[in-house]
Amino acid sequence: MTAPAPIRQIVIVGGGTAGWMAAAALTRLVPAGIAVTLVESEEIGTVGVGEATIPPIRNFNALLGLDEADFLAATQGTIKLGIEFVNWTRDTHRYVHPFGEFGFDIEGVKFHQIWRKLYEQGRAREIEDYNVCALAMRAGRYQPPVSDPGSILSRMAYAYQFDAGLYARYLRSYAEARGVVRVEGKVAQVPLRAEDGFIEAVVLEGDRRIAGDLFLDCTGFRALLIDQALGAGWESWSHWLQCDRAVAVPSESPGPEITPFTRSTAHRAGWQWRIPLQHRVGNGHVYCSADISDDEARETLLANLDGAPLRDPFILKFEAGRRKRAWHRNCVALGLSSGFLEPLESTSIHLIQSGIHKLMALLPDTGFSPVERDEYNRLTDLQMQQVRDFIILHYHANQRQQGDLWRRMREMAIPETLERKLALFRNRGRFFRYEDELFAESSWIAVLLGQGIVPQGWDPLADGLDDDKLATSLSRLHEMFARAAQAMPRHEDWLARNAPARTPA
Ligand SMILES: Cc1cc2nc3c(=O)[nH]c(=O)nc-3n(C[C@H](O)[C@H](O)[C@H](O)COP(=O)(O)OP(=O)(O)OC[C@H]3O[C@@H](n4cnc5c(N)ncnc54)[C@H](O)[C@@H]3O)c2cc1C
Repeated sequence: MTAPAPIRQIVIVGGGTAGWMAAAALTRLVPAGIAVTLVESEEIGTVGVGEATIPPIRNFNALLGLDEADFLAATQGTIKLGIEFVNWTRDTHRYVHPFGEFGFDIEGVKFHQIWRKLYEQGRAREIEDYNVCALAMRAGRYQPPVSDPGSILSRMAYAYQFDAGLYARYLRSYAEARGVVRVEGKVAQVPLRAEDGFIEAVVLEGDRRIAGDLFLDCTGFRALLIDQALGAGWESWSHWLQCDRAVAVPSESPGPEITPFTRSTAHRAGWQWRIPLQHRVGNGHVYCSADISDDEARETLLANLDGAPLRDPFILKFEAGRRKRAWHRNCVALGLSSGFLEPLESTSIHLIQSGIHKLMALLPDTGFSPVERDEYNRLTDLQMQQVRDFIILHYHANQRQQGDLWRRMREMAIPETLERKLALFRNRGRFFRYEDELFAESSWIAVLLGQGIVPQGWDPLADGLDDDKLATSLSRLHEMFARAAQAMPRHEDWLARNAPARTPA
């Protein structure tokens, strides 16, 4: 029996963030001899949002060998040290989800357990005061992390905020310079092979035909290949995540200060993001259309900008959920075509990155063994569910008095996977990270505590340590962290010195 032939031609349909991330990564990852073609339609355009990321984006950029300063300069990029949540727990309340760890474990006991015990005694500050990213966020400062584990700066972690259009353009020039062929045109038909229903080719308006072995559906919410051609199915999660629209608008920067974080502010029927870039601020109001009209959502957004809008607000419609099979036959969906979770924790771009890595780890041949496909789908489902649970947590654990959305979210039944996590944490602050879960313990702890879930007790291991010594250690730790944060340059000064924006071509 002869082995199936290797893949020779990969066709990517769609030139948004997903399409160009995939194209750029493939130039580094696939063996020589595999041709990559990307089809996109300027007339259709891209979704035009997606500007905040999480720290693993740096691994993606490192894979491509991008120079950080050049990348930030080209994309009007800024540093993101975390997310500030305003009014999420209740009105006028604020907390942060900083990247990077809280404190240091002491004699094998987790820092948050020690903190919980001393907080009970009134001998610990708020937990954010022991996180160098949180303190730097508050001070509007930034300095790159260092690798020496003895340095406080080794506790720093960061991601980026950038202009989505410029990012796609940047990746496009990278990919084209390394051999990816870009075809401008609108896909009009997707003929399937009679014998097995696999995609044979995509046919553009004007009848140009592009054949391939493997097709990546990066067509955004249209899901042209995976859904319209292949009907891979959709599982809705809208009973848990009820927001189904966003109205977005860029605005002028309010002044020279550029906050090194994304802000999320809860409103009556949703929440508003604020993403500071070098040249402007990205804003959007995510809302539940059953609770508020488009006009009112638009007015709420405009009333809560801190700079003049730079264009008319535009509305996007979506549904939370996932593609039942993100890999179906010879097609893999990446980006919005594969599923949607609202951008509360800026996870969509990461899910694209993770999809590309999984696909490369399971790269098929033209025999398309179900073994590889099934593992890809299993891992994708698991990751989507874990991110979904993290997002639901923010909504569910709220004490907001205003707005029916918040009452429904508080009272709804949540997934069993999240229920279990909450019960463990409520009891003695325990947390387990299952199967390579994206968000680490420190992220969950930040949001659990931030949303007002304080464990009833603590790990008995913390009782084996001397309270007075712990109180002294915590107080020193905070001083060290605060001093380190204050010694950093202001974020906008660091950018101006290290990565000043290039005017987009
Ligand atoms: C309101 C909102 C806010 C978001 N904020 C964030 C965030 O802060 N952080 C984050 O990580 N993610 C965020 N996301 C998600 C993020 O925007 C997307 O994951 C990312 O932009 C990838 O989009 P995409 O490439 O899948 O789709 P798109 O950008 O929609 O690209 C689709 C591409 O397919 C092409 N296409 C479609 N049909 C055809 C056709 N027939 N023929 C040829 N080409 C075609 C289009 O021209 C386009 O090039 C947000 C999403 C929304 C809706």
